[in-house]
Amino acid sequence: MRLKVVTAGKSRGIGDGLTYESDDQVAMGTPVKVPLRRSIVEGIVLGIHEAKEAEEFDVKRIQNILCEKPLLNEAQMKTLHWMADYYCCSLRACLSVWLPPPPWSKLLPRKKIVYQLVAEKAVHGKKQRAIVEFLKDRERASSSEVQTETGASGTALKSLVKAGVVREITLPESEERQRPPSFNAPILTHDQMTAAEAIWNDRRPSLLFGITGSGKTEVYADLIVRTLRRGKRAILLVPEILLTENSIERFEKLLDRSHIAVLHSRRPAGERVREWRRIHEGHVWLVIGSRSALFAPVTDLGLVIIDEEHEWTYKNEQMPRYHARETAETLARFAEAKLLLGTATPSIESWSRAKEGRYHTARLEKRYLDQPLPDVSIVDLGTVKFGSLYPFSPPLLEAIEERLKRGEQSVLFLNRRGSATALLCLDCRRRVVSPVSQLPFTVHTDRSGKPFLMDHLSGVQAPLPEHCPHCSSSNLFAVGAGTQKIESILGKVFPSARVLRADSDTLTSPEQMRLLLKKMREGQADILLGTQSVVKGLDLPNVTLAAVLLADVGLSLPHFRAGERVFQLLTQLTGRSGRAKPGQVIIQTFRPEAEEVKRAARHEVEEFLDQEWKLRLHMQYPPAVSMIRFILRGNNARLRGEALKLHIEELSRKKGQEIVMTSSPMLMAPGAYHVLVRGFHKDSNEIQAEKYGAIVDVDPIECF
Ligand code: ADP
Ligand code: ZN
Repeated sequence: MRLKVVTAGKSRGIGDGLTYESDDQVAMGTPVKVPLRRSIVEGIVLGIHEAKEAEEFDVKRIQNILCEKPLLNEAQMKTLHWMADYYCCSLRACLSVWLPPPPWSKLLPRKKIVYQLVAEKAVHGKKQRAIVEFLKDRERASSSEVQTETGASGTALKSLVKAGVVREITLPESEERQRPPSFNAPILTHDQMTAAEAIWNDRRPSLLFGITGSGKTEVYADLIVRTLRRGKRAILLVPEILLTENSIERFEKLLDRSHIAVLHSRRPAGERVREWRRIHEGHVWLVIGSRSALFAPVTDLGLVIIDEEHEWTYKNEQMPRYHARETAETLARFAEAKLLLGTATPSIESWSRAKEGRYHTARLEKRYLDQPLPDVSIVDLGTVKFGSLYPFSPPLLEAIEERLKRGEQSVLFLNRRGSATALLCLDCRRRVVSPVSQLPFTVHTDRSGKPFLMDHLSGVQAPLPEHCPHCSSSNLFAVGAGTQKIESILGKVFPSARVLRADSDTLTSPEQMRLLLKKMREGQADILLGTQSVVKGLDLPNVTLAAVLLADVGLSLPHFRAGERVFQLLTQLTGRSGRAKPGQVIIQTFRPEAEEVKRAARHEVEEFLDQEWKLRLHMQYPPAVSMIRFILRGNNARLRGEALKLHIEELSRKKGQEIVMTSSPMLMAPGAYHVLVRGFHKDSNEIQAEKYGAIVDVDPIECF
């Protein structure tokens, strides 16, 4: 048979594998050794086909099969091929997310070697006698058992083997199916039980649309139990590495830690290989991790859960540029596993699929124990006279003070980037935009501390204007505030308050996150000040105030998903407060009239989603139409981009497809250029992106 093998070597141009010949039957996913130029290298079988008769070139034979058991099973192999096709990337690039880096021989299952007494000859030496005595009482024992029980060395054992006293036996890897471990099933409320039943009984992917604090995690736990009962295993994806700690604690109550694997990219390579083997050998029943945990070598996969499915972190921004939700849907289909997407604010993608019936929907409309949702108030920052306390408004300061008096806790959300961003007119509420790129100017300060405007796209700089270019008002304001400034204001106003800071500077490992959570739970802190990505998913019972200092995160970036993003953030915010006792939420914003702000404050999730979905349909944006982005870097990025654009234009004309195409320098990557195409049905062979040196980004998330 003919095999397509992707080799461990890094040579360019063979990313989709080389053809080899084999006399033996070989399954997809099998690790092999093959000749490549003058050496023998490792490879993985990624394709099998019958030999064609009239093949001219002489096909080399594989050297040997490294292990009969494939490293990836059939469903995983099919998903890998789907990824290469859908995301327009090489098989090698896809393989890199499914397997740890080579050498792959370190992934092979270990064979178990045991020792057995064959003849009771007289032996010399105390140590050897001890071994014989020990083995007399049992059928066989491993080398380490012998050594720990007798104190003898491995050499003593080997010499007994040589003398014919002891026999060494290599046991085949146990084929016997491991039995599911015992668990502590959760006790669900009536609503949760109804949701879990419905999810379990529907074969489609399920969207669990449950408000914050409704106990989605309990439903996950219940479905994991149902999966175990069927002898199957589960994967749980969480959006942020730091949040894995949160989940582990919960799931350690469900299952013994020895049956759980926690995967994320910050773990050292050696540990990752060890975890990979533990999973592959079947010791693990629940894998928890960030997006790449989807590629864990789980056999008998019965359930994939994606928590907070709307999060942007599920998109990989490197090759292969996959989305974990789409990929999970494919894997679940091939593995005949259940897919469950949980969220309080479904992505428009999932919402539209639920509406169209492609996804099943289950709802949790009440918080656990009927805890009411918190009261939300909006503070219009445009009308506040701040003085030196910007961005703290008087109502927010009052609310914090009240928590301090009552011994309750506050959580304050910060923007991802804390520094000043746009220049805003407080009268017409519009931003000052660059005449060159039409994008909002960013406010910077020069060395002497004097502010100026900068257009990051074109590099154009401008002095701070005295009047608004739209309405001539002189009421202009630089929006934004840094973390340090906020900390120092808190220190001044509430000198005795204990403030914890949680951002990617102060938190670098899940252990630090665990410590921080512990401090909050044990009441060793009063105020948690954190960037959104870090404090979003927290479940802290004593928090009764949650506030966002500046809700306008999308303010300086033009993006068709900006409204959705702000809405998700604000809904997450309302989810942090009042989980166990009545709570309050404060949204500080310069755009109190914005749809996403008003709807979030009124907890009108469905209304927002319906409206946003209609808008996307009307404007022809994803998910109403498909979108592909081509990224060009290096020399002549713009020229190559424009040439590619012409090529696509011609292709679409030939096919009679109506497309919308835009191109621009990339805001976040100086020197890079990108082309965005909407409504184009891609066929990677036709586009020939490599010819233009372009990277293909299918269903892009970041597109500015
Ligand atoms: P969500 O993920 O939907 O925001 P959680 O799963 O974090 O909500 O649940 C909110 C809180 O309510 C948690 O502290 C959780 O322990 C508690 N809770 C929810 N359902 C149950 C249940 N059935 N039994 C015990 N506690 C529950
Ligand atoms: Zn104005």
